[in-house]
Amino acid sequence: MADSLNQCKRILIIGGGVAGLAAAHRLTELAAAAARPLDLKLIEGLDRLGGSIVTRRKDGLLIEGGPDSFITAKPWGLALSRRLGIEQQLIPTNPACRRTFVVRRGRMYPIPEGFLLLAPTRIMPFVTSRLFSWPGKFRMGMDLLLPAKPLGPDDDESLGSFVRRRFGREALERVAQPLVGGIYTADPDKLSLRTTMPRFLEMEAQYGSLIRAMRKQMPAARAAQANVDSGARYSMFVAFRDGMDTLVNALADRLPTDAVQLGRSAETIDYVDTTWRVRFRDGRHESADGLIVATPAHVTGGLVRDLDATLADDLAAIPYASSATLSLAVRRAQLGRLPDGFGFVVPFSERRTIIAVTFSSIKFEDRAPADRILMRAFLGGALQPDVYALDDDSLYRAVMTDLRELIGLQGEPEFTDLYRWPLSMPQYPVGHLLNVRRIEQRLAARRTIAFAGNGFSGVGIPDCVHSGEQAAEKLFAALHE
Ligand SMILES: Cc1cc2nc3c(=O)[nH]c(=O)nc-3n(C[C@H](O)[C@H](O)[C@H](O)COP(=O)(O)OP(=O)(O)OC[C@H]3O[C@@H](n4cnc5c(N)ncnc54)[C@H](O)[C@@H]3O)c2cc1C
Repeated sequence: MADSLNQCKRILIIGGGVAGLAAAHRLTELAAAAARPLDLKLIEGLDRLGGSIVTRRKDGLLIEGGPDSFITAKPWGLALSRRLGIEQQLIPTNPACRRTFVVRRGRMYPIPEGFLLLAPTRIMPFVTSRLFSWPGKFRMGMDLLLPAKPLGPDDDESLGSFVRRRFGREALERVAQPLVGGIYTADPDKLSLRTTMPRFLEMEAQYGSLIRAMRKQMPAARAAQANVDSGARYSMFVAFRDGMDTLVNALADRLPTDAVQLGRSAETIDYVDTTWRVRFRDGRHESADGLIVATPAHVTGGLVRDLDATLADDLAAIPYASSATLSLAVRRAQLGRLPDGFGFVVPFSERRTIIAVTFSSIKFEDRAPADRILMRAFLGGALQPDVYALDDDSLYRAVMTDLRELIGLQGEPEFTDLYRWPLSMPQYPVGHLLNVRRIEQRLAARRTIAFAGNGFSGVGIPDCVHSGEQAAEKLFAALHE
């Protein structure tokens, strides 16, 4: 073809979060495997790489401003760590206390053993749990009798509607909303089940009841858990011993010298005579044969508006919420009672400031000196934009009020660290999959541009790694066929 073997294609990546970095790294792998030269530039708006991944170390504390771990059930995070040679640095969650508590009328209740996100899979812990009322338990048991709702493969439903339909309002308010709130910071009545947890829709279609489906699948899940409990290398979530920025640094180290430029924000994207032209806020332009845009979907929408207004509208239709994390280090003696687990979640119906708290130094080893507890409050999200809007001092005071009342925290913390994440968490509304399909169809005609990042097919680190790697593969193939 026209591409002579020696012709070096210029590839530009905008956005240096984990998706953009994974894309860049995958391109270096593909170029090396095909023995092709690579002219690669990754341009990031901030003065650091990593996007939502930020690790800070201070006085023996290891503070994660954004993600503190990633899930191992999705393979792409682990697979990348292996290829980067940092797999040995992964540590599991503390096996001694893998429990989460839920706040109910100001008190802590453990989520019953065997309760998997939406549904109970074990009878006794569920029946004896004081988190649910008897009418609530009875209503949840109705799942065994209620018929399945016929849904086509493209039909979608909100998580809230699904849980209310199968398990009742109490299950939604006391468990599903706060647990999902902790993951997506989302409003369950808007969140697409088809995008976020399609397995539950499939289970309903196949077994008629989720409880029945989960119990059928329990032997496999229990075997996996036994594997973990018996000291297998990976737990459901893993972190890097020295912090999540281990991944960012390892990726950056693998990129060609001078490939990364920091502190340059892209403003518009144009396509002229088979060349991509990107204008930056500093007034300068960059040209490339291939382009990967790995910014949040709403930013990507703004960048491509002059190129394709319909595509921009579809991207802008992916809502994002703002959230914040406040890490606090306290002496053990300052805490009256500490629930025996990784942390707790707070249902929206409790009307508190905090969405969830992780006891970071209990969940993972080496996060704080032995006589200190490092904890982290998760704040804001789609349901509580008013909390995110508070100034730093008011936010701190509101969090302290919650912690005093909920876990008996006394005095002031020795150290605090607040991170704000404006419009960083996509919300995947009902119908999101069809929107993503429309975006892909519009992109199909433009083979030398690809989008990556958390706006499309998953918010977790493994999903973002996957989206970056897929974008790199698409682009590499299009440029070298
Ligand atoms: C508080 C918090 C906690 C989380 N916890 C977890 C967790 O425990 N586990 C997990 O798996 N996931 C977690 N997530 C989700 C996960 O961290 C993110 O979805 C993921 O890191 C997003 O990666 P990304 O590359 O798609 O986007 P980002 O990290 O947002 O990166 C996008 C990059 O693009 C840059 N950019 C934006 N506009 C421009 C422009 N115009 N020009 C140039 N550059 C630009 C940004 O500065 C940024 O660096 C969490 C997220 C948050 C916010």
